[in-house]
Amino acid sequence: MKTALITGSTSGIGLGIATEFAKTKQYNIIFNGLETNGAEIAASVGKEYGIETLYSGANMLKPEELRKMVTDGIAKFGKIDILINNAGIQYVSPIDEFPDEKWNAIIAINLTSAFHLSKAVWPGMKTNKFGRIINIASAHGLNASEFKSAYVASKHGIVGLTKTLGLEGAPFNITCNAICPGYVKTPLVEKQIGDQAKAHNMSESDVVNKVMLLKQAVKEFVSVETLGQMALLLAAEHSNTITGTAISIDGGWNAQ
Ligand code: NAD
Repeated sequence: MKTALITGSTSGIGLGIATEFAKTKQYNIIFNGLETNGAEIAASVGKEYGIETLYSGANMLKPEELRKMVTDGIAKFGKIDILINNAGIQYVSPIDEFPDEKWNAIIAINLTSAFHLSKAVWPGMKTNKFGRIINIASAHGLNASEFKSAYVASKHGIVGLTKTLGLEGAPFNITCNAICPGYVKTPLVEKQIGDQAKAHNMSESDVVNKVMLLKQAVKEFVSVETLGQMALLLAAEHSNTITGTAISIDGGWNAQ
């Protein structure tokens, strides 16, 4: 059995990826997220698919909690083979009204937490000569949209971190890749539909059709199952030559 630590896995994309990993019955999973029923979610996925799970409520804003999550995971499972940096937040506002504290929180949660966690799992991965770090970036890691200055900066930053760790990990069979999804219908996006409607002065259905999916050639939300299957491919033993890259799953958004 391998062990996967997936941040922000008690909601949305993280939970979808965790479920795809659980279905294979080849991974123990360390769940994480701020949802108050996180421990129940972890236990119920474990029970449904017959795998071992651990839940940590570590806050991405607190590096000491992140390090403890890693040591707790290693204490329970012996090692961490796969790290999926997925936890993230969004805030939509024109730059002149963008609150400083939102900028700081977005950079800390979406980018700096991935640095702390990668650093914490690295020595074990090096010793084991196996590691797979997968960063859930965004189409906004490769392109920009107005009113998302902090998010776009954090996601471009994590694509840069991905390239660097891909290079540094190569001698140790540690790969690092980013997945760049287009729009996925999760609680994060449900909230954005409302925020964007205000920023653009539009109805919510116009935001979905005329703003969000406008940029995708395929006019569909990306599914969490597709993202989970890509993460499974990147996590595989035989994927050792896929590293330092950003893989778009965005309905053709980045092709334009
Ligand atoms: P979500 O809101 O459904 O889930 C986010 C998860 O992160 C939750 O479990 C939440 O508790 C956790 N989280 C947030 N702040 C945290 C903190 N301080 N400490 C610990 N955990 C924290 O959102 P989602 O749509 O599933 O997003 C997951 C990732 O995918 C994010 O990085 C997001 O930027 C990225 N992404 C989402 C979309 C999309 O359309 N939904 C598109 C591209 C990229």
